[in-house]
Amino acid sequence: MADARFGVHAVARREPLVSGGQLTLSNALTLDRTGVRADGFNEDVAANGTFIRSSTLMPVIGYQGRFEIGADAERAKRGLGAVTPMLTPVESLPALAARARDRGLTPAWFTVRTTISTSLDQTALGPGDLVNEWTVNKRRHFSYRLDQPSTPMFPISAGRYAVERRVVGGVAVELWYHAAHGAHAARIVEIASRSLTVLQQQFGAFPHKTLRLVEVPAGWGFGAYAQTGSRDLTESRGMLSDARKGDVDLLVRRIGHEVAHEWWGHTVDPLWGEGRLTIVETLAKYSEQLRLGAQQGDAVLARMMSFDHDRYLSGRANTMGLEPTLLTTA
Ligand SMILES: [Zn+2]
Repeated sequence: MADARFGVHAVARREPLVSGGQLTLSNALTLDRTGVRADGFNEDVAANGTFIRSSTLMPVIGYQGRFEIGADAERAKRGLGAVTPMLTPVESLPALAARARDRGLTPAWFTVRTTISTSLDQTALGPGDLVNEWTVNKRRHFSYRLDQPSTPMFPISAGRYAVERRVVGGVAVELWYHAAHGAHAARIVEIASRSLTVLQQQFGAFPHKTLRLVEVPAGWGFGAYAQTGSRDLTESRGMLSDARKGDVDLLVRRIGHEVAHEWWGHTVDPLWGEGRLTIVETLAKYSEQLRLGAQQGDAVLARMMSFDHDRYLSGRANTMGLEPTLLTTA
């Protein structure tokens, strides 16, 4: 079966795959970003740079619960029933795991090797450590290797990057950035390095050899984003933010938060169910406070929490229905 509209393919094997067996799946992808559009612009691959996520590049296997339409009004318009409720951690673990598997909610961790080619004036960045680099037919090639099992979400970036580096306790901390945006580069690497030190003391050793930060264009709808192998900072809210504004150091806060996701979200990667965000985001927010307190003293935390409280209330003002509970108990 091949459904061209949704890009869904069904493959049936003649013989079942034995336990521990292997299967090779090959696919090729062509992205067409040409043409005239009114909206929905996609600038993941441009002449002077690339920032593309693995979810765009690679096929996904099995039913994907996360692709279901979540908004009640949108579902009603299309005649769909109520949204499938989130998994709740009140049933037995094996039953919960089986239901999560059926709904495509437990993507396994992976290891990955990538070979990326780009034009001569650009550097390509992939997940893990750089193992080789060469030039053939006027194209630069880069080979990366991630041997530590990791959450299956990573970006591929390429651009005319400058780099700022330092080694902290055996970990290479690197920032790849647009050279014209380098005013805070040394400071960002210093903040990321100190975040590693502060957070390792609290939560255990950082599991990788490289902590990589990468500047991406402002058009991406996030301030910063922690994916496997890369903490992506937008040019507007990361590289070019004015650190003199306000009494809370925004760079320390933002970078501390994204480094903390190495533990919350990437080392501890909870099942996609009720309470997941409490572990992934609440603990990252808590780590952000530890990091900021270590830099500016605990007195600054009250101002930071009052800002976060305002953000929480303004978010609630635009939400329909009841607020989901953090946790359900039997
Ligand atoms: Zn976060």
